[in-house]
Amino acid sequence: MGWFKGRLSRSEADRPTRPVCDSCGAELERTKSYYLATRDVVLSESYWTTHFTLVKALQDKLVMDDSQQLGVFDETLRVASGQRSPWGICENCSELFTFDRDEARSCAIRDVAPPRSGPVHPAECTLFAAAAWERVFDRWPANVPQPEVAYTCDFCEKKIYAGEIADVIPRTRMQQLRAEGIIEHDPVSGPRPGTDTWVSCQPCMARQLASQYRRR
Ligand SMILES: [Zn+2]
Ligand SMILES: [Zn+2]
Repeated sequence: MGWFKGRLSRSEADRPTRPVCDSCGAELERTKSYYLATRDVVLSESYWTTHFTLVKALQDKLVMDDSQQLGVFDETLRVASGQRSPWGICENCSELFTFDRDEARSCAIRDVAPPRSGPVHPAECTLFAAAAWERVFDRWPANVPQPEVAYTCDFCEKKIYAGEIADVIPRTRMQQLRAEGIIEHDPVSGPRPGTDTWVSCQPCMARQLASQYRRR
């Protein structure tokens, strides 16, 4: 098990000996965790936002120039997307991802890799990582072509680029999600004229799915 993937730059001596969450580093009780495939992790903008927030804190201390920062962007993508083993994820961090929770919990309990585990081509996660980079650093990474903005999230006003994952929520489902408290606040915009739907970005969708699962 490749624990602590989020801190791959640590030296061997610094690596914890007990299992920890591969996203936040908190100690992990395996049977209460989730095992995610690399694909489920690196296609999550929320994961990258969390990760790049740590990276930025470090870069600010080191005073890196633009090309050094972009080098870090490329290298981080290459290393994370190349992970062969599953990622052990804690309950808190599970809100960052959209995945099959029953399957991921079952894999953690049995200590087996989830289906579709293994490396992902870095190009597949570039868009999600770049969108997160823009959020954290307030500028799009100059070494990545910037797509068109397709929508704005009706819940958090985040830009949703063409090719990003988003959820379209019709009125009946919206009413149900609001009544059940899974969506805690009224959307800030919408419904979309013509379709009577609301658009949820991937980070909002991941939080909504986590909330739905916990209320079962
Ligand atoms: Zn965690
Ligand atoms: Zn959103």
